[in-house]
Amino acid sequence: MIDLHCHSTVSDGTLTPAELVRAASENGCTLLALTDHDHTGGLHEARQTAQTCGITLINGVEISVTWRGNTVHIVGLDFDADNPVLQKLLVQNRSGRIERIHRIGEKLAKQGIHGAAEAALSIASNPETVSRTHLAEFLIQQGYVRNKQQAFTKYLGHGKAAAVAHEWATLQDAVEAIIQANGIAVVAHPMRYHFSATGKRRLLEEFKSYGGQAVEVQSGSSGLNDRLNYALLAERFHLLASVGSDFHAYNRYSGGTLGVCPELPPICRPVWEHFRQSPISRPD
Ligand code: AMP
Ligand code: MN
Ligand code: MN
Ligand code: MN
Repeated sequence: MIDLHCHSTVSDGTLTPAELVRAASENGCTLLALTDHDHTGGLHEARQTAQTCGITLINGVEISVTWRGNTVHIVGLDFDADNPVLQKLLVQNRSGRIERIHRIGEKLAKQGIHGAAEAALSIASNPETVSRTHLAEFLIQQGYVRNKQQAFTKYLGHGKAAAVAHEWATLQDAVEAIIQANGIAVVAHPMRYHFSATGKRRLLEEFKSYGGQAVEVQSGSSGLNDRLNYALLAERFHLLASVGSDFHAYNRYSGGTLGVCPELPPICRPVWEHFRQSPISRPD
């Protein structure tokens, strides 16, 4: 029972790191990575809780990246969390978030929706990692949309009325920072990007050229078709396979069940066989 992608209140999840680890454990999870957006502040609490409930906790983070004008998410796994190069990149990525939320708020105001940025900042437990998820929560609370998905298709998603351009870290800097910190870089939820097949191949090629090693073959509630397609793509690019629920909350759109993911197709080489910690060690 493995889950290498989920979120706590340190970014846009609703469970604290301790609550998240306990809930994953209750679901039968034995190997968990907490991967908050651009922040590793929950790992200490998560590890302490993991020790009390028999879970192996892998250091994780999900880094927002701008690649050829698109936002792509890169997960880092099993890195040294105190690595200064990685931490500097995360600080830099977080630094524009509050201003970005205000810019999105201004666009929502033009649609007649007022006070969104202030509300999002008060909903967010950690203003440093305030995100569109918190804006979505405000839009749901105020009755503008029925659910998180609709908040993105109506207002917040790429090309929609309240979308704003933002420059995150580069793909190269994000992958290299994870590697500098002795971690493994993973392309998150490749099935979610609206790129052509060629675009996806380019992404994986470039990602590999910087030292990236893995791709999520299973993300959230993605089904068997995606799993088989991305297993083949992983094999073709000699990438390790990762799995993650991308769990955020019980009551919001989030996809998979926390702590458990469907089994990988047999052709996959699982990323966890390369972790330095148990269950199977990777050589340094
Ligand atoms: P941000 O970091 O502010 O760009 O917010 C990104 C977060 O919004 C993601 O991590 C997801 O939690 C959520 N999100 C993005 N796109 C969608 C979507 N189409 N449907 C639901 N949630 C989404
Ligand atoms: Mn999120
Ligand atoms: Mn993501
Ligand atoms: Mn995520």
